[in-house]
Amino acid sequence: MSESSIRISEIFGPTIQGEGPLIGRPTVFVRTGGCDYRCSWCDTLHAVESEYRQEWTEMSAAEIMDEVQRLSNNTPMMITLSGGNPAIQPMEELIKLGKELGYEFAMETQGSVSKKWMQQLDVLILSPKPPSSKMDTDWIAFYQTLQMAGFEKAYGPDIALKFVVFDEDDYKYAREASARHPHFPVYLQPGNHKVEGAPDISGLMERMRWIIERAANDNWNDVTILPQLHVLIWGNEKGV
Ligand code: SF4
Repeated sequence: MSESSIRISEIFGPTIQGEGPLIGRPTVFVRTGGCDYRCSWCDTLHAVESEYRQEWTEMSAAEIMDEVQRLSNNTPMMITLSGGNPAIQPMEELIKLGKELGYEFAMETQGSVSKKWMQQLDVLILSPKPPSSKMDTDWIAFYQTLQMAGFEKAYGPDIALKFVVFDEDDYKYAREASARHPHFPVYLQPGNHKVEGAPDISGLMERMRWIIERAANDNWNDVTILPQLHVLIWGNEKGV
């Protein structure tokens, strides 16, 4: 394994981004393997747990771009770096090569690990994990990620905050974190409580309605509340 090889769980698409600020946008997903978190409700354990490690592949930036170009018929589009936590992988060379070929890059991460190459992204979606995840947020590390991405210096990617909300504690966490970072657009997403088999769509819509009412009661009017579009279309199927 070379220092610049990237641990890949799966590369798939083109499909659409199902969440957050790029919802509905055609994209190819590059999903990396490995995560520094273990969220209680993680829906991508195949890209997190070491028991799936034998399914992951070490790939060079050139090999990844070859596959992305094959999938996208050599037509530049948005590449979504996802995981696992893509921030723990060496992405610099991949982003440089992809941009030379005309592709754009979005990445979603919890904000626990910061890297200088984040400045080269087009869109950075930071998704700190709320209490229901059973993870503790290191807000110093989160702030370092914002700084490393260049937000104070008016360069770097467009940044958005995205929060998964299961309950009142999660909602309060999202509300407080958003208030501390008023310069970023905020997206709330109902948590998916059934990530194996057929999803509980009516339960998800009930939670969605509750979040909408909860935000309205708080006059939280500059927030965007979205379901996971891919779950509505394809259920919990992987690789779509
Ligand atoms: S940070 Fe994301 S990929 Fe990692 S365990 Fe949590 S939900 Fe799963």
